Amino acid sequence: MNIECSKTINRQVDIAQLKKSYDIVIVGSGPAGASAARAFIGSGLDVVIIEKCSLKRDKMCSGVILPSARKYLSENYNEIPEHVFTEPRAIKGSRCVSTNDLQACVTTCPALDLGEALPNQEHGFNVDRSEFDYWLCKESGALLVDNCLFVDCKHDGRDISVRVNHEGKYHEIITKILIGADGPISRVRRSLSPELDKTLNWIALYEEHYEATIDLEPGWQYWILDPVTFGSFTHKDKVIHLNATASRAETAKKTLYRFVTFLQERYGLKINKTTMTRGIVMNDMPYRENYFLGNGNILLVGEAAGFVRALDGITGALVSGKAAGESALKSLQSGLSPLQHYSEHNLVQAEWKICKEVQPRLGELGFVFGL
Ligand SMILES: Cc1cc2nc3c(=O)[nH]c(=O)nc-3n(C[C@H](O)[C@H](O)[C@H](O)COP(=O)(O)OP(=O)(O)OC[C@H]3O[C@@H](n4cnc5c(N)ncnc54)[C@H](O)[C@@H]3O)c2cc1C
Repeated sequence: MNIECSKTINRQVDIAQLKKSYDIVIVGSGPAGASAARAFIGSGLDVVIIEKCSLKRDKMCSGVILPSARKYLSENYNEIPEHVFTEPRAIKGSRCVSTNDLQACVTTCPALDLGEALPNQEHGFNVDRSEFDYWLCKESGALLVDNCLFVDCKHDGRDISVRVNHEGKYHEIITKILIGADGPISRVRRSLSPELDKTLNWIALYEEHYEATIDLEPGWQYWILDPVTFGSFTHKDKVIHLNATASRAETAKKTLYRFVTFLQERYGLKINKTTMTRGIVMNDMPYRENYFLGNGNILLVGEAAGFVRALDGITGALVSGKAAGESALKSLQSGLSPLQHYSEHNLVQAEWKICKEVQPRLGELGFVFGL
Protein backbone atom coordinates (compact mmCIF):
# COMPACT_ATOMS: atom_id res chain seq x y z
CA MET A 1 0.00 0.00 0.00
CA ASN A 2 1.30 3.45 -0.93
CA ILE A 3 1.78 5.63 2.17
CA GLU A 4 3.93 8.32 0.56
CA CYS A 5 3.14 11.97 1.20
CA SER A 6 0.85 13.69 -1.27
CA LYS A 7 -1.59 16.54 -0.85
CA THR A 8 -5.10 15.34 -1.50
CA ILE A 9 -7.67 17.68 -2.98
CA ASN A 10 -11.32 17.40 -2.14
CA ARG A 11 -13.36 16.08 -5.02
CA GLN A 12 -17.06 15.31 -5.04
CA VAL A 13 -17.66 12.75 -7.77
CA ASP A 14 -20.51 10.94 -9.36
CA ILE A 15 -21.18 7.25 -8.59
CA ALA A 16 -19.95 6.37 -12.11
CA GLN A 17 -16.46 7.41 -11.06
CA LEU A 18 -16.49 5.20 -7.95
CA LYS A 19 -13.58 2.75 -8.13
CA LYS A 20 -13.75 -0.93 -7.23
CA SER A 21 -11.37 -0.58 -4.30
CA TYR A 22 -10.14 2.01 -1.81
CA ASP A 23 -7.64 1.89 1.04
CA ILE A 24 -10.19 3.42 3.39
CA VAL A 25 -13.99 3.68 3.07
CA ILE A 26 -15.84 6.04 5.41
CA VAL A 27 -19.63 5.83 5.64
CA GLY A 28 -21.30 9.17 6.48
CA SER A 29 -20.38 12.77 5.74
CA GLY A 30 -21.19 14.25 9.19
CA PRO A 31 -18.56 15.66 11.57
CA ALA A 32 -17.36 12.17 12.60
CA GLY A 33 -16.79 10.99 9.01
CA ALA A 34 -15.19 14.25 7.90
CA SER A 35 -12.90 14.27 10.92
CA ALA A 36 -11.84 10.66 10.34
CA ALA A 37 -11.07 11.47 6.69
CA ARG A 38 -8.97 14.49 7.69
CA ALA A 39 -6.50 12.22 9.49
CA PHE A 40 -5.42 10.78 6.09
CA ILE A 41 -4.38 14.09 4.50
CA GLY A 42 -0.87 13.68 3.14
CA SER A 43 -0.87 9.90 3.63
CA GLY A 44 -1.20 9.12 -0.07
CA LEU A 45 -3.99 6.68 0.75
CA ASP A 46 -7.10 6.40 -1.40
CA VAL A 47 -9.93 7.53 0.88
CA VAL A 48 -13.60 7.84 -0.01
CA ILE A 49 -16.55 9.12 2.02
CA ILE A 50 -19.88 7.68 0.90
CA GLU A 51 -23.05 9.54 1.86
CA LYS A 52 -26.62 8.33 1.37
CA CYS A 53 -28.13 11.84 0.98
CA SER A 54 -27.62 14.44 -1.70
CA LEU A 55 -25.01 16.97 -0.66
CA LYS A 56 -25.18 19.45 0.86
CA ARG A 57 -27.40 17.36 3.12
CA ASP A 58 -29.41 18.81 5.96
CA LYS A 59 -29.23 17.47 9.51
CA MET A 60 -31.75 17.92 12.28
CA CYS A 61 -29.67 19.77 14.86
CA SER A 62 -29.69 23.11 16.71
CA GLY A 63 -26.35 23.81 15.06
CA VAL A 64 -24.69 25.20 18.18
CA ILE A 65 -20.95 24.70 18.12
CA LEU A 66 -20.20 24.54 21.81
CA PRO A 67 -16.90 25.84 23.24
CA SER A 68 -15.34 22.35 23.32
CA ALA A 69 -16.00 21.94 19.61
CA ARG A 70 -14.79 25.50 18.96
CA LYS A 71 -11.57 24.69 20.76
CA TYR A 72 -11.14 21.47 18.76
CA LEU A 73 -11.82 23.27 15.47
CA SER A 74 -9.43 26.12 16.21
CA GLU A 75 -6.67 23.59 16.97
CA ASN A 76 -7.32 21.29 14.01
CA TYR A 77 -8.97 23.26 11.18
CA ASN A 78 -8.72 26.45 9.17
CA GLU A 79 -11.07 29.27 10.16
CA ILE A 80 -14.76 28.54 9.69
CA PRO A 81 -15.85 30.47 6.57
CA GLU A 82 -18.43 33.23 6.97
CA HIS A 83 -21.18 31.53 4.91
CA VAL A 84 -21.34 28.69 7.48
CA PHE A 85 -22.59 30.98 10.29
CA THR A 86 -26.20 31.88 10.95
CA GLU A 87 -27.40 34.99 12.80
CA PRO A 88 -26.87 35.76 15.59
CA ARG A 89 -23.43 34.36 15.07
CA ALA A 90 -22.60 33.93 18.76
CA ILE A 91 -24.59 31.82 21.22
CA LYS A 92 -23.98 33.40 24.62
CA GLY A 93 -25.07 30.43 26.67
CA SER A 94 -27.95 28.13 27.62
CA ARG A 95 -31.16 29.38 29.17
CA CYS A 96 -33.97 27.29 30.62
CA VAL A 97 -37.69 27.85 30.74
CA SER A 98 -39.93 25.44 32.61
CA THR A 99 -43.45 24.35 31.67
CA ASN A 100 -44.10 24.12 35.44
CA ASP A 101 -43.12 27.70 36.20
CA LEU A 102 -46.13 30.00 36.43
CA GLN A 103 -43.87 33.07 36.88
CA ALA A 104 -42.41 32.51 33.38
CA CYS A 105 -38.86 32.82 34.77
CA VAL A 106 -35.90 32.38 32.46
CA THR A 107 -32.83 30.93 34.15
CA THR A 108 -29.31 30.81 32.80
CA CYS A 109 -27.69 27.36 32.95
CA PRO A 110 -24.47 27.29 34.99
CA ALA A 111 -22.42 26.22 31.99
CA LEU A 112 -23.08 26.39 28.30
CA ASP A 113 -20.60 23.63 27.78
CA LEU A 114 -20.84 20.65 30.08
CA GLY A 115 -17.82 19.10 28.44
CA GLU A 116 -14.77 21.10 29.27
CA ALA A 117 -15.63 23.86 31.78
CA LEU A 118 -14.04 26.52 29.62
CA PRO A 119 -14.14 30.12 30.89
CA ASN A 120 -17.71 31.43 31.02
CA GLN A 121 -17.02 34.23 28.57
CA GLU A 122 -16.31 31.58 25.93
CA HIS A 123 -19.44 31.49 23.74
CA GLY A 124 -20.75 29.04 21.19
CA PHE A 125 -21.16 29.52 17.46
CA ASN A 126 -24.46 29.40 15.61
CA VAL A 127 -24.06 27.52 12.32
CA ASP A 128 -26.03 26.04 9.46
CA ARG A 129 -25.37 22.30 9.79
CA SER A 130 -25.57 21.55 6.07
CA GLU A 131 -22.93 24.20 5.31
CA PHE A 132 -20.85 23.30 8.36
CA ASP A 133 -20.71 19.57 7.60
CA TYR A 134 -19.98 20.17 3.92
CA TRP A 135 -17.14 22.53 4.84
CA LEU A 136 -15.72 19.89 7.24
CA CYS A 137 -15.80 17.34 4.41
CA LYS A 138 -14.04 19.71 2.03
CA GLU A 139 -11.38 20.34 4.68
CA SER A 140 -10.80 16.58 4.87
CA GLY A 141 -9.50 16.42 1.31
CA ALA A 142 -11.23 13.06 0.79
CA LEU A 143 -13.19 11.96 -2.24
CA LEU A 144 -16.90 12.37 -1.60
CA VAL A 145 -19.68 10.34 -3.23
CA ASP A 146 -23.26 11.28 -2.37
CA ASN A 147 -26.58 9.49 -3.03
CA CYS A 148 -24.70 6.35 -2.13
CA LEU A 149 -26.24 4.18 0.58
CA PHE A 150 -24.12 1.73 2.57
CA VAL A 151 -26.13 -1.49 2.62
CA ASP A 152 -23.93 -4.05 4.38
CA CYS A 153 -20.44 -5.49 4.46
CA LYS A 154 -18.62 -8.81 4.65
CA HIS A 155 -15.16 -9.37 6.07
CA ASP A 156 -13.11 -12.36 4.90
CA GLY A 157 -10.32 -11.76 7.43
CA ARG A 158 -8.24 -9.83 4.89
CA ASP A 159 -10.43 -7.48 2.87
CA ILE A 160 -13.83 -5.96 3.53
CA SER A 161 -16.43 -6.10 0.80
CA VAL A 162 -18.82 -3.15 1.09
CA ARG A 163 -22.18 -3.23 -0.69
CA VAL A 164 -23.62 0.17 -1.61
CA ASN A 165 -26.76 1.20 -3.44
CA HIS A 166 -27.21 4.11 -5.79
CA GLU A 167 -30.64 4.72 -7.36
CA GLY A 168 -31.63 1.08 -6.89
CA LYS A 169 -28.39 -0.36 -8.30
CA TYR A 170 -25.92 -2.29 -6.13
CA HIS A 171 -22.15 -1.80 -6.32
CA GLU A 172 -19.34 -3.53 -4.47
CA ILE A 173 -16.28 -1.74 -3.07
CA ILE A 174 -13.31 -3.57 -1.59
CA THR A 175 -11.37 -1.94 1.22
CA LYS A 176 -8.85 -2.70 3.94
CA ILE A 177 -10.43 -0.48 6.60
CA LEU A 178 -14.04 0.62 6.98
CA ILE A 179 -15.08 3.50 9.24
CA GLY A 180 -18.76 3.72 10.18
CA ALA A 181 -19.65 7.38 10.76
CA ASP A 182 -23.28 6.86 9.86
CA GLY A 183 -24.99 8.32 12.91
CA PRO A 184 -27.37 6.84 15.48
CA ILE A 185 -29.15 4.34 13.19
CA SER A 186 -25.82 3.01 11.91
CA ARG A 187 -26.07 0.26 9.31
CA VAL A 188 -22.34 -0.37 9.71
CA ARG A 189 -22.95 -1.10 13.40
CA ARG A 190 -25.93 -3.31 12.55
CA SER A 191 -23.88 -5.15 9.95
CA LEU A 192 -21.19 -5.83 12.54
CA SER A 193 -23.42 -6.63 15.50
CA PRO A 194 -27.15 -7.08 14.82
CA GLU A 195 -27.44 -8.35 18.40
CA LEU A 196 -26.32 -5.03 19.88
CA ASP A 197 -28.89 -3.11 17.84
CA LYS A 198 -31.68 -5.26 19.28
CA THR A 199 -30.76 -4.11 22.80
CA LEU A 200 -30.92 -0.38 22.02
CA ASN A 201 -33.77 1.90 23.04
CA TRP A 202 -34.82 4.56 20.57
CA ILE A 203 -35.72 8.14 21.41
CA ALA A 204 -37.84 10.09 18.91
CA LEU A 205 -37.45 13.83 18.38
CA TYR A 206 -39.55 16.18 16.27
CA GLU A 207 -38.69 19.64 14.97
CA GLU A 208 -40.42 22.56 13.28
CA HIS A 209 -38.95 25.78 11.87
CA TYR A 210 -40.98 28.99 12.08
CA GLU A 211 -40.82 32.45 10.67
CA ALA A 212 -41.86 33.82 14.04
CA THR A 213 -41.29 36.29 16.83
CA ILE A 214 -40.98 35.60 20.55
CA ASP A 215 -40.39 37.84 23.57
CA LEU A 216 -37.06 36.19 24.34
CA GLU A 217 -33.64 37.51 23.38
CA PRO A 218 -31.94 35.77 20.41
CA GLY A 219 -28.38 34.51 20.85
CA TRP A 220 -29.15 31.89 23.51
CA GLN A 221 -29.85 28.18 23.24
CA TYR A 222 -33.17 27.84 25.09
CA TRP A 223 -34.07 24.58 26.81
CA ILE A 224 -37.67 23.79 27.70
CA LEU A 225 -37.74 21.70 30.86
CA ASP A 226 -40.86 19.66 31.44
CA PRO A 227 -41.85 17.08 34.11
CA VAL A 228 -41.75 14.23 31.55
CA THR A 229 -39.35 15.36 28.83
CA PHE A 230 -37.57 18.38 27.31
CA GLY A 231 -37.11 20.39 24.13
CA SER A 232 -35.10 23.32 22.84
CA PHE A 233 -35.24 26.28 20.52
CA THR A 234 -32.69 28.55 18.86
CA HIS A 235 -32.96 31.64 16.66
CA LYS A 236 -31.26 30.97 13.31
CA ASP A 237 -31.33 33.91 10.91
CA LYS A 238 -34.98 35.02 10.93
CA VAL A 239 -36.24 31.54 11.75
CA ILE A 240 -36.87 29.82 15.10
CA HIS A 241 -35.96 26.10 15.25
CA LEU A 242 -38.03 24.32 17.91
CA ASN A 243 -37.67 20.64 18.82
CA ALA A 244 -39.17 18.26 21.36
CA THR A 245 -38.24 14.83 22.67
CA ALA A 246 -40.84 12.07 23.00
CA SER A 247 -41.69 10.54 26.36
CA ARG A 248 -43.67 7.52 27.47
CA ALA A 249 -46.65 9.85 27.90
CA GLU A 250 -46.82 11.27 24.36
CA THR A 251 -45.22 11.41 20.93
CA ALA A 252 -42.54 13.99 20.12
CA LYS A 253 -44.99 15.77 17.80
CA LYS A 254 -47.65 16.06 20.53
CA THR A 255 -45.02 17.32 22.96
CA LEU A 256 -43.88 19.94 20.45
CA TYR A 257 -47.43 21.27 20.01
CA ARG A 258 -47.78 21.42 23.81
CA PHE A 259 -44.52 23.44 23.88
CA VAL A 260 -45.85 25.76 21.15
CA THR A 261 -48.94 26.54 23.27
CA PHE A 262 -46.72 27.05 26.33
CA LEU A 263 -44.43 29.47 24.43
CA GLN A 264 -47.43 31.33 22.97
CA GLU A 265 -49.03 31.82 26.39
CA ARG A 266 -45.89 32.63 28.40
CA TYR A 267 -43.47 34.24 25.96
CA GLY A 268 -45.65 35.68 23.21
CA LEU A 269 -44.60 33.29 20.44
CA LYS A 270 -46.23 34.44 17.17
CA ILE A 271 -45.84 32.06 14.23
CA ASN A 272 -46.25 33.60 10.77
CA LYS A 273 -45.21 30.59 8.73
CA THR A 274 -43.97 27.03 9.30
CA THR A 275 -41.05 26.47 6.96
CA MET A 276 -39.93 22.96 7.90
CA THR A 277 -41.15 19.88 9.79
CA ARG A 278 -39.08 16.77 10.40
CA GLY A 279 -38.31 13.99 12.85
CA ILE A 280 -35.34 11.91 13.87
CA VAL A 281 -34.52 9.11 16.29
CA MET A 282 -31.55 8.85 18.61
CA ASN A 283 -30.45 5.80 20.51
CA ASP A 284 -29.67 5.52 24.21
CA MET A 285 -26.04 4.31 23.82
CA PRO A 286 -24.54 7.43 25.45
CA TYR A 287 -27.06 7.46 28.30
CA ARG A 288 -26.25 3.85 29.20
CA GLU A 289 -22.52 4.28 28.49
CA ASN A 290 -22.95 1.49 25.99
CA TYR A 291 -20.20 2.43 23.54
CA PHE A 292 -19.18 0.19 20.64
CA LEU A 293 -15.92 0.93 18.84
CA GLY A 294 -16.18 -1.78 16.17
CA ASN A 295 -14.31 -4.92 15.38
CA GLY A 296 -10.86 -5.57 13.86
CA ASN A 297 -10.64 -3.43 10.72
CA ILE A 298 -14.10 -1.91 11.06
CA LEU A 299 -14.31 1.12 13.36
CA LEU A 300 -17.32 3.09 14.54
CA VAL A 301 -17.14 6.82 15.30
CA GLY A 302 -19.42 9.63 16.47
CA GLU A 303 -23.02 8.75 17.26
CA ALA A 304 -22.66 5.36 15.55
CA ALA A 305 -20.31 4.44 18.41
CA GLY A 306 -22.37 6.23 21.09
CA PHE A 307 -20.15 9.28 21.52
CA VAL A 308 -22.37 12.16 22.63
CA ARG A 309 -21.35 14.50 25.45
CA ALA A 310 -24.77 15.05 27.00
CA LEU A 311 -26.09 17.97 24.87
CA ASP A 312 -23.02 18.21 22.66
CA GLY A 313 -22.73 15.64 19.87
CA ILE A 314 -20.40 17.51 17.55
CA THR A 315 -17.31 17.46 19.79
CA GLY A 316 -17.57 13.70 20.43
CA ALA A 317 -17.98 13.12 16.69
CA LEU A 318 -14.93 15.24 15.78
CA VAL A 319 -12.74 13.75 18.49
CA SER A 320 -13.64 10.10 17.91
CA GLY A 321 -13.35 10.57 14.12
CA LYS A 322 -9.83 11.90 14.49
CA ALA A 323 -8.89 9.06 16.85
CA ALA A 324 -10.21 6.43 14.42
CA GLY A 325 -8.42 7.96 11.43
CA GLU A 326 -5.12 8.15 13.28
CA SER A 327 -5.56 4.59 14.55
CA ALA A 328 -6.22 3.27 11.04
CA LEU A 329 -3.05 4.99 9.78
CA LYS A 330 -1.01 3.63 12.68
CA SER A 331 -2.29 0.11 12.08
CA LEU A 332 -0.99 0.17 8.49
CA GLN A 333 2.47 0.79 9.86
CA SER A 334 2.34 -1.39 12.99
CA GLY A 335 0.47 -4.38 11.56
CA LEU A 336 -1.76 -4.37 14.67
CA SER A 337 -5.52 -4.09 14.23
CA PRO A 338 -7.02 -0.59 13.86
CA LEU A 339 -9.39 -1.43 16.73
CA GLN A 340 -6.50 -2.10 19.08
CA HIS A 341 -4.97 1.33 18.38
CA TYR A 342 -8.40 3.00 18.46
CA SER A 343 -9.46 1.56 21.83
CA GLU A 344 -6.11 2.58 23.33
CA HIS A 345 -6.08 6.05 21.72
CA ASN A 346 -5.73 8.80 24.32
CA LEU A 347 -8.58 10.82 22.73
CA VAL A 348 -10.97 7.87 23.08
CA GLN A 349 -9.92 7.28 26.69
CA ALA A 350 -10.44 10.99 27.45
CA GLU A 351 -13.77 11.07 25.60
CA TRP A 352 -15.14 8.16 27.65
CA LYS A 353 -14.15 9.96 30.83
CA ILE A 354 -15.82 13.22 29.76
CA CYS A 355 -19.02 11.44 28.63
CA LYS A 356 -19.17 9.60 31.94
CA GLU A 357 -18.78 12.83 33.92
CA VAL A 358 -21.26 14.99 32.00
CA GLN A 359 -24.12 12.52 31.52
CA PRO A 360 -25.34 12.62 35.17
CA ARG A 361 -25.24 16.43 35.13
CA LEU A 362 -28.18 16.47 32.75
CA GLY A 363 -30.44 15.13 35.51
CA GLU A 364 -29.04 17.64 38.01
CA LEU A 365 -29.90 20.48 35.60
CA GLY A 366 -33.52 19.26 35.33
CA PHE A 367 -33.47 17.37 32.04
CA VAL A 368 -35.85 14.40 32.16
CA PHE A 369 -35.56 11.49 29.73
CA GLY A 370 -39.06 10.12 30.11
CA LEU A 371 -38.37 6.79 28.45
C1 LIG B 1 -32.55 17.95 17.68
C2 LIG B 1 -31.07 17.82 17.85
C3 LIG B 1 -30.33 18.94 18.16
C4 LIG B 1 -28.94 18.83 18.33
N1 LIG B 1 -28.24 19.98 18.60
C5 LIG B 1 -26.90 19.90 18.77
C6 LIG B 1 -26.14 21.09 18.98
O1 LIG B 1 -26.66 22.21 18.96
N2 LIG B 1 -24.80 20.96 19.16
C7 LIG B 1 -24.17 19.74 19.15
O2 LIG B 1 -22.95 19.68 19.36
N3 LIG B 1 -24.88 18.60 18.91
C8 LIG B 1 -26.21 18.66 18.70
N4 LIG B 1 -26.92 17.53 18.41
C9 LIG B 1 -26.19 16.25 18.24
C10 LIG B 1 -25.44 16.23 16.89
O3 LIG B 1 -26.27 16.67 15.85
C11 LIG B 1 -24.95 14.80 16.56
O4 LIG B 1 -24.45 14.19 17.72
C12 LIG B 1 -23.86 14.84 15.48
O5 LIG B 1 -24.38 15.26 14.25
C13 LIG B 1 -23.24 13.43 15.32
O6 LIG B 1 -22.33 13.47 14.25
P1 LIG B 1 -22.03 12.13 13.39
O7 LIG B 1 -21.04 12.54 12.37
O8 LIG B 1 -21.71 11.03 14.33
O9 LIG B 1 -23.41 11.74 12.73
P2 LIG B 1 -24.36 12.55 11.71
O10 LIG B 1 -24.11 14.01 11.80
O11 LIG B 1 -25.73 12.05 11.99
O12 LIG B 1 -23.87 12.08 10.29
C14 LIG B 1 -24.12 10.78 9.83
C15 LIG B 1 -24.12 10.81 8.31
O13 LIG B 1 -24.20 9.47 7.82
C16 LIG B 1 -25.12 9.43 6.74
N5 LIG B 1 -25.62 8.05 6.67
C17 LIG B 1 -26.43 7.41 7.55
N6 LIG B 1 -26.65 6.14 7.16
C18 LIG B 1 -25.97 5.98 5.99
C19 LIG B 1 -25.81 4.89 5.10
N7 LIG B 1 -26.40 3.69 5.33
N8 LIG B 1 -25.05 5.05 3.99
C20 LIG B 1 -24.43 6.25 3.75
N9 LIG B 1 -24.55 7.33 4.57
C21 LIG B 1 -25.30 7.20 5.67
C22 LIG B 1 -26.19 10.44 7.15
O14 LIG B 1 -26.97 10.87 6.04
C23 LIG B 1 -25.33 11.55 7.75
O15 LIG B 1 -24.91 12.46 6.76
C24 LIG B 1 -28.30 17.58 18.21
C25 LIG B 1 -29.04 16.44 17.89
C26 LIG B 1 -30.41 16.57 17.71
C27 LIG B 1 -31.20 15.32 17.34
